[in-house]
Amino acid sequence: MNAECIFCKIVSGQIPCTKVFENEHLLAFLDIHPAAQGHTLVVSKRHYDRIDRSDPQTLAEIAKALPKLTAAVQKAAGADGYNVLCNNGPAAGQAVEHLHFHIIPRRAGDGVMKAWKPQTYPQAHLEQIAGKINAELAL
Ligand code: 5GP
Ligand code: ZN
Repeated sequence: MNAECIFCKIVSGQIPCTKVFENEHLLAFLDIHPAAQGHTLVVSKRHYDRIDRSDPQTLAEIAKALPKLTAAVQKAAGADGYNVLCNNGPAAGQAVEHLHFHIIPRRAGDGVMKAWKPQTYPQAHLEQIAGKINAELAL
C-alpha cells in the first residue's frame, strides 16, 4: 500500500470504483475515462510501480486471469477484438504509477488507437541492440 497512490486507495476501498472482477491478487474495474465503452483496468492488489519491478508471481496471476477477463470485456462491449496495454513509466504514457493493464475493446475502423510508425534497422544496429539486451539478461 502506497498512501499517495490512487490505485492503492481503490484497492483498499478508500476510493470507489466500478468493479468487474476481484481475486486475492488483482482487481479489475472500469476506467473512469475510457478509450472505448467497457475499457477495463486490471490492477495488482499489491503496489508495484511497473512490470520490471513487479513480483513475477503477481504478473503470472494477472496473466492467468486475462483469458477470461478479455473474453468477457470483448463480449460485453460487443467488440471484435481488444488491446491489452501496459504503460511503464511516464515516458511511455503511464499516468498512474501502480501496475495495471488496460483491456480496450476494439471494432474494425474505430480509430481508438493508432499503430506506431514502423522504422527500419541497419543490420549491424539490430545485432548491437540484441547484444546489449542479451548482456543485460546475463547480469
Ligand atoms: P496509464 O496512463 O497510467 O496507463 O492509465 C491510467 C488510467 O487510469 C487512465 O486511463 C485513467 O483514465 C484511469 N484512472 C485514473 N484515475 C482513475 C480513477 O480514480 N478511477 C478509475 N476508474 N480510473 C482512473
Ligand atoms: Zn499503488
